[in-house]
Amino acid sequence: SIMPATLSAISSGARSGILFKGGAHLENLSHVKAIAFDKTGTLTRGKPEVTDIIIRKGLNRDSLLKVSASIESRSNHPLARAVVRYVQNEQIPFSPPDHLEDVAGWGVKGTIDQKEWKIGKAAFVGKEEADAFANGASLVFAEDGKTTIFVADHEGIAAVIALKDIIRDETKQALKILQDEGIFTIMLTGDSEKTAKAIAAETALGSYIAQCLPEHKVNHVKDLLEKYGTVAMVGDGINDAPALATASVGIAMGEGSDVALETADVVLMKNDLPKIAEAIKLSRKMQRIVK
Ligand code: ADP
Ligand code: MG
Repeated sequence: SIMPATLSAISSGARSGILFKGGAHLENLSHVKAIAFDKTGTLTRGKPEVTDIIIRKGLNRDSLLKVSASIESRSNHPLARAVVRYVQNEQIPFSPPDHLEDVAGWGVKGTIDQKEWKIGKAAFVGKEEADAFANGASLVFAEDGKTTIFVADHEGIAAVIALKDIIRDETKQALKILQDEGIFTIMLTGDSEKTAKAIAAETALGSYIAQCLPEHKVNHVKDLLEKYGTVAMVGDGINDAPALATASVGIAMGEGSDVALETADVVLMKNDLPKIAEAIKLSRKMQRIVK
């Protein structure tokens, strides 16, 4: 049966927007020594905006944007939604692709009028060719904390699109409170090394690991478990769900994907990162009463 102290901690959590799915998670949270964070949608708002576009010579800008929006219109990725919003703002009409394949952690493949297109990270469209096409531009973008994606057709790279996601106002403060409590903070992101480095520096994160595929996030959480014993993982995406399930405590952003919300042990109802420190305080207080 559930202890009165546990019940009272769960209900006071709920009142301040922290949903605990059970008493055991409170107990685990009280022992947390390290917290891993996803980047996009967790530390950042997850609503990136297109900032720069470089198009292959000889290609028409409007038709390139039309194709890009068409393909991305069938993906739920925040980057995909940003491309679609950008093209809608330019009032360029587009229709859904004939076929689409979403390759989690890499990008999307689509067919329009029997022509195949790929949109995604450099390694997805061909790293060497992508680097040659960007000719240093993606490095400059990354140093600004921007994410670069590539559009490719059967002839090669067709365009580079840079997007910037804004760091949540409360991220820096939330991380600082946790670090002051002696908790190690680390970001696990699918984004590139340079972009990750820029975001980590801006938010004063303890550490970061870039270019994580969903299964890499799981392995890094396992490493953290070995090193720190009790570890929380905070995320919002489908790609974070396996890592949320692996951590001692999985914490989901309330506006995250359904899979993340279902998998998590704790849900931050308003995406409010400082509530993590509050949840830990609550759990420690409960532990003192129970003991
Ligand atoms: P994060 O951990 O930052 O949320 P993801 O694992 O979702 O990142 O994606 C990793 C990378 O794969 C992105 O930074 C992007 O380069 C590429 N990518 C994934 N899906 C898409 C898409 N629909 N359109 C363009 N690029 C994508
Ligand atoms: Mg995310």
